Amino acid sequence: MTLPARANSGEAGYLLTTVEDAIRSAHAGSLWYLTFGLACCAVEMMHTAAARYDFDRFGMIPRASPRQADLMIVAGTLTNKMAPAIRKIYDQMAEPRYVLSMGSCANGGGYYHYAYSVVRGCDRIIPVDVYVPGCPPTPEALLYGVLQLQRKIKRTTVFHRG
Ligand code: SF4
Repeated sequence: MTLPARANSGEAGYLLTTVEDAIRSAHAGSLWYLTFGLACCAVEMMHTAAARYDFDRFGMIPRASPRQADLMIVAGTLTNKMAPAIRKIYDQMAEPRYVLSMGSCANGGGYYHYAYSVVRGCDRIIPVDVYVPGCPPTPEALLYGVLQLQRKIKRTTVFHRG
């Protein structure tokens, strides 16, 4: 949690923060992600969730329903046939929602950039917050992408002042 000030009373310390900071930290520290794999990158995403890299440490919990998920990791090749489905699933996620594009295929079509059946980047269908390069990106790269997303969330404004 980002804490703007800390004071120690001598015996029992206390912390000062703002509601906005607390909300931002809660958002960033509990990114429940959709179990949504499109191709080989999804295997690396599963690897990141398994014991060695342990996504759970960052508050990353897989969810099988878009209505319970904060984050969509687009892990794999997005085809034209799948594009309407991915948009529908994105629309079913509650705000605030985030999208991480994982790997060359999701970022821009990758090896299949010139294939008739492949979308040249998932950002043509849904808004993307973070792009992770690679084919496939390593679990370390995906973790780094998530850390970048957390940084971005901690910089966003929660309450809009009129
Ligand atoms: S970027 Fe590479 S590893 Fe990922 S889905 Fe495309 S071909 Fe597979």
